[in-house]
Amino acid sequence: MTFNVLLYVLIALATVAVMEGFAWSMHRFVMHGRSGWAWHKSHHEETEGIFEKNDLYAVVFSVMAVALFFVGQALSPFILAIAWGITLYGLLYFIVHDGLVHQRWPFRYVPHRGYAKRLVQAHRLHHAVEGRGHCVSFGFLYAPPIDKLKQELRRSGVLDRERIERSVTAQGSVHAPVR
Ligand SMILES: [Zn+2]
Ligand SMILES: [Zn+2]
Repeated sequence: MTFNVLLYVLIALATVAVMEGFAWSMHRFVMHGRSGWAWHKSHHEETEGIFEKNDLYAVVFSVMAVALFFVGQALSPFILAIAWGITLYGLLYFIVHDGLVHQRWPFRYVPHRGYAKRLVQAHRLHHAVEGRGHCVSFGFLYAPPIDKLKQELRRSGVLDRERIERSVTAQGSVHAPVR
């Protein structure tokens, strides 16, 4: 492997890390913000059919990644490496969020241990609260420790202890909060 290829691989991997930070702030401040909630709301409620309005975010980001491939092809392999990083992040996001957590794939697999389990439980706690306020855990590839999230939810007082526990365990593929 030449030095250049190694450099581009590192840039792509660094882009994945940066994308998690970017996705966190998008999710926290735009999607759960006043204007972005119009699309994201569909993802926090029971929806019918395969698609939800929230998928439009994925479409927008995919279009941006494709555009970056064209720009990179014309201008610089650095930009191309970034485009690959964004694409890899999108793939990981799909596997973790749409697959592992929300089971939007044709088979059922729920992780019962390790970091994958923590990812799933953290995102279930994200969906535990009704509405756009007081939610926890906005990341997709990084999940804070579950006890910390439970504590945060208890402290904000929006959910009682029993409902918090039920949210961690009982929620399957659904998006809506467990009652
Ligand atoms: Zn959300
Ligand atoms: Zn979700």
